[in-house]
Amino acid sequence: MNKDCIFCRIISGEIQSDILYQDEEVIAIRDINPQAPTHLLVLPRSHISSLADVGADQKQLLGHLVHVANELAKREGIADKGYRLVINCGVEAGQEVPHLHLHLLGGRSLGKLG
Ligand code: AMP
Ligand code: ZN
Repeated sequence: MNKDCIFCRIISGEIQSDILYQDEEVIAIRDINPQAPTHLLVLPRSHISSLADVGADQKQLLGHLVHVANELAKREGIADKGYRLVINCGVEAGQEVPHLHLHLLGGRSLGKLG
């Protein structure tokens, strides 16, 4: 728990959010500023600043984040048409919130990257 981190404050319940899924390791919320009809964030409960800080002992956690995103894609009804998982890591990737999170985007044609 990092008291200056908005996602830690959401996880602790201090800040309200639309929680769609939670278990012992991760929670999933709806993005407050959606870039697609479905735009969810899947984040670990533990404060990890970015993807670059994920260690070898956290490989299972990363797999779990992706698995939860896949399950939520099915639940949101976007699994068949297609969806995109994004992790922004660091300044040049546009990471704004320094708490590891995976974006699940879908519900419209997302176009090519770049
Ligand atoms: P990133 O640029 O990858 O760090 O993404 C941060 C995301 O967090 C952005 O898409 C924001 O819209 C989203 N966000 C910021 N504050 C909140 C919040 N309180 N609840 C839900 N999503 C948020
Ligand atoms: Zn945090």
